[in-house]
Amino acid sequence: RAKLEHRGHYCYYTRSMGGEMRARVRLMQDLRQALGGGSLYLLFQPQISLGDGQPVGAEALLRWLTESGQLVPPDQFIPLAEDSGLIVAIGDWVLRGACQQLVALKNAGVGQFRMAVNVSVVQFRHPDFIGMLERVIAETGVDPANVELEITESVAMLDPERIVTLLNRIKEFGFTVAIDDFGTGFSSLAYLQRLPVDRLKIDRGFVGRIAFEGEGKNIAEMIIDLGRNLGMGVIAEGVEDAAQADYLRARGCHEAQGFLYARPLDAGTLLEWLRERGG
Ligand code: C2E
Ligand code: MG
Ligand code: MG
Ligand code: MG
Repeated sequence: RAKLEHRGHYCYYTRSMGGEMRARVRLMQDLRQALGGGSLYLLFQPQISLGDGQPVGAEALLRWLTESGQLVPPDQFIPLAEDSGLIVAIGDWVLRGACQQLVALKNAGVGQFRMAVNVSVVQFRHPDFIGMLERVIAETGVDPANVELEITESVAMLDPERIVTLLNRIKEFGFTVAIDDFGTGFSSLAYLQRLPVDRLKIDRGFVGRIAFEGEGKNIAEMIIDLGRNLGMGVIAEGVEDAAQADYLRARGCHEAQGFLYARPLDAGTLLEWLRERGG
């Protein structure tokens, strides 16, 4: 009986797995076509200085609107693209598009402005990553000093020597580097100190917890202090209300991004938003 039950369970398991697998393969095929077909696009979420409230930049965020009119969230399709390796081509497309947009903003009269772009760990460790960066700079004419590459703490799981070498090359081009979702990846502090990183980005999970005292010192506050001690800038993501912004400002956090200031905007709306703010 036990054996039968076990078997039944096994069959059920594989059948549902098979369905899930088919759905994944299907989504992958659609995504591959989307990359060539124009149903991928970028939105840009403003980042502001907490000191004076002025815009300092924007983060490029990828969107996928399928043929059937469904908006698939990046949290769903990015992992899929990473598993299949398609993220390398997608990431190339994203960086190129974000840099083109930055050049366009400059041409429209926007002054000092930074464009932040998410880089997957799969892209980062791809042998042609540096070559890709070189091509994007050459083809878009962007000034890398105004482009920030957002990597996650998972990058720190790679071979330490290799990462430091890679980050140094990236920095030689002039790019700045931020660690995204900081505080969620358990990277060692000793290690962090060795990385040529410009900015820590406090994960929005910690920002959302700011109002709930009682856990002692807030993690957001610890990250701000850490950034200060390491000589790095600190930006908070997911800032939704003025109380969070006040708390962060009072504790010396430099910059913020979140629905309190603006949702991710299309390029035209971003320019309007900046003009309204005198940018
Ligand atoms: P992320 O890089 O940490 O981006 C921040 C996410 O927080 C974005 O979600 C943004 O829309 C959302 N967000 C911003 N402000 C607020 C707020 O005030 N409240 C709340 N609740 N959410 C806020 P999104 O656009 O859905 O992206 C999710 C994740 O997908 C990103 O997290 C990033 O890890 C990944 N992603 C997006 N675009 C790309 C891309 O081009 N390449 C790669 N590799 N990953 C990307
Ligand atoms: Mg990001
Ligand atoms: Mg983030
Ligand atoms: Mg996040």
